Amino acid sequence: MKKFSIVVKDDQESLLIAKDIRKRLFHGEMSYSEKEPDIVCVIGGDGTFLAAIHKYVNILDKTVFVGINTGTLGFFIDYTVDELDKYINDILYREPEIESHRLLKTTVFSDKTRSYLAVNEARIDNMIRTQNIEVQVNGYKLEDFRGSGLCISTQAGSTAYNRAINGAVVERGLEVMQLAEIAGVHNVHYRSLGAPLILNGNSVITLHSDFDETSLLCFDRYAINLKGVTAVEVTLAAESFKLARYEEFNYIKHFSELF
Ligand code: NAP
Ligand code: MN
Repeated sequence: MKKFSIVVKDDQESLLIAKDIRKRLFHGEMSYSEKEPDIVCVIGGDGTFLAAIHKYVNILDKTVFVGINTGTLGFFIDYTVDELDKYINDILYREPEIESHRLLKTTVFSDKTRSYLAVNEARIDNMIRTQNIEVQVNGYKLEDFRGSGLCISTQAGSTAYNRAINGAVVERGLEVMQLAEIAGVHNVHYRSLGAPLILNGNSVITLHSDFDETSLLCFDRYAINLKGVTAVEVTLAAESFKLARYEEFNYIKHFSELF
């Protein structure tokens, strides 16, 4: 018997839909497993989707995600509320195509080494002070960046924070990382690229700086303080999350309806 779980946005409409979905999937002979679902039903928007992936980050190889949107259509989420019957029917009786997306891995070096996974992006950001960051790609120095911070996004994250700082939107299927500046200082003393840089997915980005208590590493909806950190390394992760697609997904069509 297939097992499902539900991750739901905390609003009245989403909670009602969650209740209905739960009932109908039980009726279709599926069972509920909070801990080890084969399929995770995400009810909400892209933000809820991020929360769902982080919740199941330790079993991403064993589970697939399929979303129903209770607001505008999300990037990760295919179904609208009017398509609830189709949503249930597809989950119960059809085989989906699986679309895999690599996560981003950020490793933080201090007296101990820690790693964090992200779906959209890792952002080294400082709202208070200007940071000087030496940027290396694959061990070669690219530049000395000065400014508020740097954002490294995945293909999936290209339409999120990255887009708000004039990064490029990247079509689905391209396994790349994008490095974009957040309020870079460009004058006679400081000069960095000043444009988004799209890198091969097997690149290693290393950032060195005198990080202090005002420097943050933000990854998706979470953040840690970088005080005492000497270097930050960003790569694509070995881990991927899997979307269940029951219909062909046309990125340009989807994107044009959303922006
Ligand atoms: P949230 O309210 O869940 O997300 C903020 C907004 O970003 C929402 O409108 C959300 O869409 C949208 N979003 C998230 N991932 C997206 C993606 N891959 N493509 C297009 N839109 C996307 O707030 P949160 O829980 O803090 O989420 C953190 C994420 O929000 C971060 O990863 C960051 O990329 C994004 N963010 C964006 C901005 C910005 O664009 N200026 C600022 C802060 C954070 P839904 O409405 O469908 O949930
Ligand atoms: Mn939305």
